[in-house]
Amino acid sequence: MEAYIMGSDQRIVRCARVSFGKDDKVDMDRDKKLIKYLFQHRHASPFEHVIVAFEGDKKDWIDLIQKVQSPVFQVYWAGGYVWLNLRNFINAFEHIPRAVKQKVRELLPTTYAVIKGETPTDYSTDSSYVSQKVETSSGWIGLVDKLELGTLMDYYTFVVECPLFVARQWHRHRFGSFNEVSRRYVSYEPTFYIPSYLRKQSDKNKQASTDEKIDEPWNSLFMKKIKWYIEDLRTLYENMIEKGVAKELARGILPQFMHTRFYWTVPRISLDNFISLRTHEGAQKEIREFAEAIISMVGYKNSATFRL
Ligand SMILES: Cc1cc2nc3c(=O)[nH]c(=O)nc-3n(C[C@H](O)[C@H](O)[C@H](O)COP(=O)(O)OP(=O)(O)OC[C@H]3O[C@@H](n4cnc5c(N)ncnc54)[C@H](O)[C@@H]3O)c2cc1C
Repeated sequence: MEAYIMGSDQRIVRCARVSFGKDDKVDMDRDKKLIKYLFQHRHASPFEHVIVAFEGDKKDWIDLIQKVQSPVFQVYWAGGYVWLNLRNFINAFEHIPRAVKQKVRELLPTTYAVIKGETPTDYSTDSSYVSQKVETSSGWIGLVDKLELGTLMDYYTFVVECPLFVARQWHRHRFGSFNEVSRRYVSYEPTFYIPSYLRKQSDKNKQASTDEKIDEPWNSLFMKKIKWYIEDLRTLYENMIEKGVAKELARGILPQFMHTRFYWTVPRISLDNFISLRTHEGAQKEIREFAEAIISMVGYKNSATFRL
């Protein structure tokens, strides 16, 4: 039986450490301890960024659902493969075929040892931080990994840096997994998106904009004010942190132009749904640019066949 894995021990650590803005650091001893900590304390969302696919028919899929007596267990079947993420793999552990477990043991030795209650020895890392990166006007997106078997459930992991309001729109796409930097933890200097000019409100679509610049002198005047307020708020934030204000409160004054960073692991069917909705002219320009960047990296397959 063929089994395919997307991810590594380090992937779980990266998706956990993005909370602290330290997803690019490798420290094998600490990483192994972190995986154990995450597992033991049920901080399970970083495990969702590792994907397992194994050959199986519909019966294998239904059997698995029936065997795992949890109303929130998620497993999928597409293209002759049973698909699940590592969080669900852990919940289904005793029902997973031996060959699949063996593959997980080989490719994620620390994580497998932790699941089994053993002491980890080996540790697997990602080959690079991102394999492709595209800059947009408001941030950047990097392709971390992909698992393509030509099915609706082919999987992709991206790391995204974008303004808060773009992330808010992005996170409405619920079919997929997210882990994001937390300003409750980090106090490093925030960065901000500053548009090159201020676009006009569309008069055809209540929520959209045009590419046209607003009239002068207003564009220059407002742009100057935006930059001034952002600098002023950045200074206020830093002063509050210096004087001991809790990060979770001080962050409240940081504006929506602030950048955030998150990992997104998403199946093709949901990725195509994102692309079709977010390349539409009614979508916000900044998120449209990200959707176009995704197409340039992994294409669009029009696989979102659900009607709604
Ligand atoms: C131009 C634009 C404007 C928008 N404006 C707003 C707005 O003003 N306010 C706002 O709140 N959102 C807004 N949204 C977000 C929008 O309502 C969706 O939440 C978002 O586009 C994600 O789409 P989705 O639900 O298809 O994707 P996902 O959440 O990824 O879901 C994928 C698919 O899974 C199925 N699904 C997922 N969850 C459920 C569920 N609970 N029940 C049934 N089926 C489910 C559906 O078939 C869905 O298409 C806007 C989106 C766009 C593109």
